[in-house]
Formats: sequence, C-alpha cells, structure tokens
Amino acid sequence: KFRTVIQKLIDSPDNQHEPLTNFIANEFVKPEKWMHSVNPATGKPWIKIPDGTASEVDSAVAAAKEAFKTWKNTTVQQRSTLLNKVANLIEEFNDEIAILESRDQGKPIGLAKVMDIPRCVQNFRDFANSALYALSTSKILEQPTGKCVNYVKHDPVGVAGLISPWNLPLYLVTFRFRTIKPNFLKLSFKLAPALVAGNTVVCKPSEMTSVTAWVLMHAFKLVGFPSGVVNMVIGEGRSAGQRLVDHPDVHLISFTGSTLVGTKIQEDGAKMNKKVSLEMGGKNPGIVYTNYRKSDIATIARSSFLNQGEICLCTSRLFVQRPIFDDFVKSYVQEAQKFTIGDPSTQVQIGAMNSKVHFEKVKKYIEIAKKEGGNIHCGGVKTVSNGCEDGYFIAPTVITGLPDSSQCMTDEIFGPVVCITPFDTSEEVIERANSTSYGLSATVWSANTDELLNTANELRAGTVWCNTWLARELSMPFGGCKQSGTGREGLHDSLHFYSDAKTVCVNL
Ligand code: NAD
Repeated sequence: KFRTVIQKLIDSPDNQHEPLTNFIANEFVKPEKWMHSVNPATGKPWIKIPDGTASEVDSAVAAAKEAFKTWKNTTVQQRSTLLNKVANLIEEFNDEIAILESRDQGKPIGLAKVMDIPRCVQNFRDFANSALYALSTSKILEQPTGKCVNYVKHDPVGVAGLISPWNLPLYLVTFRFRTIKPNFLKLSFKLAPALVAGNTVVCKPSEMTSVTAWVLMHAFKLVGFPSGVVNMVIGEGRSAGQRLVDHPDVHLISFTGSTLVGTKIQEDGAKMNKKVSLEMGGKNPGIVYTNYRKSDIATIARSSFLNQGEICLCTSRLFVQRPIFDDFVKSYVQEAQKFTIGDPSTQVQIGAMNSKVHFEKVKKYIEIAKKEGGNIHCGGVKTVSNGCEDGYFIAPTVITGLPDSSQCMTDEIFGPVVCITPFDTSEEVIERANSTSYGLSATVWSANTDELLNTANELRAGTVWCNTWLARELSMPFGGCKQSGTGREGLHDSLHFYSDAKTVCVNL
C-alpha cells in the first residue's frame, strides 16, 4: 500500500495526481479548498495541496485531544515499537521518497537520498530507543519523622502543534542527525520526541513542501498508530498555522522557521502561557585563521552552499585573517565553481531555490551587493536547460569588499551567497562575528587548539563547530541564542520540552 502511494506520486505527470488531503483521526480527509504546489526546478505547478482552514485545524485538534486520553497512558515501549516501525518503512522506501523530496523542495536527489531521508529514519529510531532509558530520577528524603521517596514522572503535555519550514521538510518534521560526514551533510525531529513522550500531535508542514509529510502520514496509519494520535493539516501559515498557535487546546508549539514568524508565535503563545520552542534564522560566521588546514577548504565551501545554502546552519559571513586573505579567496572561488548545478532530479550538487519568492529575494541581495560596490567573484542567476528553463537556479556566489554594516552581512539571505571579509586579530573578529542579531551557529578553522577553543568560548551561538561543519550528535543540545531561537532540542532537551516534570513524594 505504501509503495502504491509513493509510486503514484512519482509516476504522475505534473498536475495529474489527485489533490492531496489533510490527515485527521486516521482518515485522509478532503479539504474545503486547495492551492497549487510548484516544482521549483520547472517553475510549474505539479500537485494540488490543501489550503487548510481554521475549522480543519479545529477538527484535527479535537481528534488529537480525544486520542490523548488513551495515548498518554500507553507505555514508552508501545510508543517506541510503533516509531521504530515507521522508521523501518521510511528506510525501505528511502530512494523513492528522496525523489519526491527533491521534486517538492528543489534539492538535489543525491542529497535527499543520503541526508534528508536517512536522517529522518535515524530521528525516529534514536528518539524511540533512547526514550526508553532517558528520563528517570529518584531521591530519598530523610526527615526526623521518617523517610520519603521522591521520584520524577514526566507527564506528556497534551496536544502538540508542530510547525515546520520548507528547507529540510521531512527531516525537520522528524529532526535529528548524528555524525554527518563532512561531504554531506527536518517533521521527524519534532514528531519523534513529541510522540514518544506521550503527546498527540497536529502537524502543519510548510505549504511549500508538504508532499513527503503527506506520505509520512500514510506510514503512521499503516504501522498502526491509533486514530487521532498523529494529525496533519496542510496550508498557509497565516490561516492553518495561526489557528494552531491560537487554539486553546494546543498546549505546546514547536516551531522551526523565520525569526519574524517565530517572534509572532512567541507573542501569541504567551497569551495562553503555551510551551513554545523556537528554532529560527541565522547569519552564521565562519572564522578562518592563518594556519587553517588547507584540506578543509572544500568543507568550508560546502558549509556555505550545501542544499543551495538553504540550511539555517550555513555559513554566510566568512572572516579570513589578513595575511592569507587573497590566496584564500582565490582557492575558495575555485571550490565554489566546482559545484555542479542543474535539474535536481539528476546527479548535481546544487538544485533549485525553493520558490520564486525566495529566488527573487536572493537575487535582490546580489543586486544590493553590486550597488554597494561589492566584488562578485562568481555566481548569480544560472539558466538550466531540459525543461528547467523557468526554474529558480542560483550558482554559488562569492562576494568581497562589503562593510560589516551591509545588508548582505547582517540579513539572513538563506541562499548560496557568501560574503568574505578580512580581519587582523582574534579579539576583533570575535566582536565582529558576534555583531549581528542572530546567534545560531559558527565555525572556526585553525590548526591551533588554543585559538580554536578561545574563539569558540567567546562566540555567541548555539553551536560552534571547530574544523568541521554539520557534525551533530543527538544527545547534544541544539538551538540558537538571541534572534535565532529559544529553547533547545536534542535527545534530553526535546524529551524535557515535550513533557512536564512532576515530583511525586511518598512517605515510606
Ligand atoms: P517561515 O517562518 O516563513 O515559515 C515556517 C512555517 O511557519 C511554515 O510552515 C509556515 O506556513 C508557518 N507560518 C507562517 N506564518 C505563521 C503564523 N502566523 N502562525 C503559525 N505558523 C506560521 O519560514 P520558511 O521560509 O518556511 O523557512 C526558512 C526559515 O527557517 C529561515 O529563516 C531559516 O533560518 C529557518 N530555519 C531555522 C532552523 C533552525 O533550526 N534554527 C532550521 C531550518 C530553517
């Protein structure tokens, strides 16, 4: 059955597949209205998706609220078994789901095969398995009158609203990655911990990339998740997303997306004192010291351009120590020009930008750089043939000569555009690297351990990678400082976020 669902999506020519549906109480429910989802590589509509309404969100929340009454009393073992079955099913169809992720998002199919889908499987497995052992604390209290045993019970919070962006669609919904090889590198990162902790959920994937999330709902149904435990409404943020945030029966919101939207969700959620976790934008610095390992240059370039630079953790400001600046820029431009770019369904390294709106935004920043006197070494808009003439392609773009105050140095561009600038001392570069409103991640490149650790120590970021990028271990906290987010996700942090700790004290 699962194969049939996936194969039908793969085989259907553009706009020939039946419109997608919402998923409520284990039923695939026709929405009140639909909208088009565009294939970013061709610039043409390829499938109709629900344009979810507030009343559809209300139905999904009602189903989740009802299911919570029994799901919260299932054992962690039972939840874990079901999540492992989802992981197995996704794994079996890794390559086929990768085809859909690539068509929906614009990312190269090779990347979806080795990064997005395997990491999604890993998210389900790791949360499913580790939750069995993760949270338990007890302590004996000795009083003159006798002893009490205290233990902590982690109660599920209730109905969780999970809102995800378009850049790593399935991966983020499920989220997590362990150790990622430097040459490769999201609903799983949210779904897995929310469910294993005993919550029921309503997902709202990005309206730009909903197809694989819809496929995932088939997996939940097929492996036997009880009705109402997992629900999904596809639609726009301002309607479906906003209703999920405003719904009084949704007690927790996990959001990954832009700082603008996340900040509004935080304000709206605060009115009902909801638990809110925000993973938001970044303007990540990379610091390259004179004695960096030359062999790392390819990884430094990947840190800017992987997934078309559409990863919140991509490096977009590179600070290079002055004595090596010119040589570094020359080598870096050569690396940038090695990336193959084209139809994401073929074996290329860079696919299409996710949408026309986003494509225009990235182009606008390249224009700003030109107007401000920046030196564009390579990149810009790229025309691709064979049916992709109307697609949204931008080649790796390297810019020098801009001041730190330039919008290109302060705003999140979220595309394959990097600004490189020289620095003299570590004190200076730390201050400049910390000078944006964001604080998601940073990289430091040096052969000197003291230099690495001293710099890492001073940087205001949720993650600092030294001589590597995107290597992640689930048990480590993940999140951002300043405008990049609040809260941390990861094995222990997510399980804490998706539960309410309750101390039970028993007089012995
Ligand atoms: P976005 O903020 O526009 O949308 C994210 C999600 O929020 C979508 O599902 C959207 O429909 C929904 N939404 C929009 N308005 C809403 C509202 N008023 N109420 C509720 N939901 C609403 O972000 P995007 O363009 O999809 O994704 C790109 C952004 O995501 C970038 O800023 C990137 O840095 C960020 N991101 C951050 C991380 C991280 O871990 N920090 C990871 C990936 C992406």
